[in-house]
Amino acid sequence: MNSTEKTSEHKNSSPATISLSEILARGTPLKPKERLNIPPQPMPVQDPVVRRSNMNEVALGYTEKQARLEAMRCLQCKNPPCVKDCPVRINIPAFIREIAEGNFAKAIEIIKKNNLLPAICGRVCPQEIQCQLHCTVGKILGDVDKAVSIGRLERFVADYEREKSSCTIPSVSAETGKKVAIIGSGPAGLTVAADVRRAGHSVTIFEAFHKPGGVLMYGIPEFRLPKKIVEFEVNTLKSMNVIFQTNFVVGKTRKLTELLTRDGYDAVFIGTGAGLPKFMNIPGENLPGVLSANEFLTRSNLMRAYEFPRADTPIIKGNVVAVIGGGNVAMDAARTAVRLGAKEVHLIYRRTEAEMPARIEEVRNAKDEGVIFHVLQSPKRYLPGPDGRVARMECVRFTLGEPDESGRPRPIEIPGSEFTVDVDAVIVAIGNDCNPLIKQTTPALMTNKWGNIIIDQNGKTSMDKVYAGGDIVLGSATVILAMGQGRVAAEAINNLLA
Ligand code: FAD
Ligand code: SF4
Ligand code: SF4
Repeated sequence: MNSTEKTSEHKNSSPATISLSEILARGTPLKPKERLNIPPQPMPVQDPVVRRSNMNEVALGYTEKQARLEAMRCLQCKNPPCVKDCPVRINIPAFIREIAEGNFAKAIEIIKKNNLLPAICGRVCPQEIQCQLHCTVGKILGDVDKAVSIGRLERFVADYEREKSSCTIPSVSAETGKKVAIIGSGPAGLTVAADVRRAGHSVTIFEAFHKPGGVLMYGIPEFRLPKKIVEFEVNTLKSMNVIFQTNFVVGKTRKLTELLTRDGYDAVFIGTGAGLPKFMNIPGENLPGVLSANEFLTRSNLMRAYEFPRADTPIIKGNVVAVIGGGNVAMDAARTAVRLGAKEVHLIYRRTEAEMPARIEEVRNAKDEGVIFHVLQSPKRYLPGPDGRVARMECVRFTLGEPDESGRPRPIEIPGSEFTVDVDAVIVAIGNDCNPLIKQTTPALMTNKWGNIIIDQNGKTSMDKVYAGGDIVLGSATVILAMGQGRVAAEAINNLLA
């Protein structure tokens, strides 16, 4: 099987029993029962054995036929629950109706009224806990996996527009002479940039890394979100004359207050994310060979370490890699380690699979690619080998107790259950905090005890002319929530500068 050969994910393996041509030939609208009889369309995916050794996208996207059939499953609910569960309130039945009728350009136009990054959200939104969670079709069929695949349809039309038709550059109002500075080029910052620039204000994005895109670029791996899609969105903003200043760390290169006083910006948006990795503070965590998922993924994605030997970015490629954690970041790190050639990748999580915060789809993908899961255990310390690098890991077993403040059962250590395993690399993926740099250099900025910036309902911080949104406000959240906050702040900035 070659790398482009397709297979289908196993959750929806039943083939379509009604063909699109049969439906179109009838010429009469489908009845609800007939819609419910159309099987969920499976997403074509790369075969797990093949994709273990390449970085290409795993999900290959619907064909036109599949997209139209999937869209025909939608019951066009009068009070659609899916819209209420989408953080940016896309008119879901309307865009799906257009896909069913083959009007893909119209469909993308409807989506873009509320979501500027549909190719990205269609790929990475946790749809099963957002728009698809209460979908009527899923409810009737008794399985959220059988809900209308809203995200996949959104991805389909966004890809169709980018690849097969001409994308138009959003129109920009006449120049106002006002200047807005955006700190951070993740989804929050990119969203603010688009909305503020469209109002005719000059926009500069200051980004600490050498490439814009935030976690979309440096965190989420290529096999889930191809970088060319993020680059395409960044280039659209560049075509609108948004200025990107990379390698520019606000708080070091320039203080936030200097942007307002010395550089004459009329408003500032802070979208700096939550990029400071958490560690467990256990013995041996600073041994060579133990690193954060952030560092590991950044080296792989942003510095293209996976292109070895073409790129000579150093990255660990252990034979036996342990990944600590059970969230999406842990899955991304484990699956990247597989692709970088690790012989064994072990995922260590202290609760059970039922409590894992990662998307079910990502857990399934990781297992299909050979990641070995170990639940109800956690490392206690790391031990060096003769060369000073990590060589062993002492773990302890857990049992589950009463729910804790997160609502999940509390993991309780089983005394005396310690055991040791050999490892030659450890990737810690137990969450992120906010980087304190901007707060430390801007004392007037109010934050909560976790360092998240406090904002009002318009995204305004404790400082005049300064707004914030995304992970720096919410803690580690999602792409679409960051974008939603960006839209609110952009509207407030546009009102301020009107
Ligand atoms: P970020 O995307 O973090 O961008 C912030 C940017 O600000 C960065 O580029 C950073 O370099 C820059 N910056 C920071 N400090 C400064 C400074 N002082 N000066 C200049 N620039 C600065 N969410 C999903 O919805 N679905 C997923 O599948 C998903 N998977 C994820 C996988 C990984 C590995 C990670 C880490 C996160 C994932 N998330 C996912 C979460 C999601 O990516 C974030 O919620 C989202 O990117 C937050 O957007 P943001 O714009 O607030 O910040
Ligand atoms: Fe669903 Fe996300 Fe699209 Fe909203 S933006 S419809 S939550 S995939
Ligand atoms: Fe269609 Fe499901 Fe939304 Fe109803 S809830 S409009 S069936 S996508």
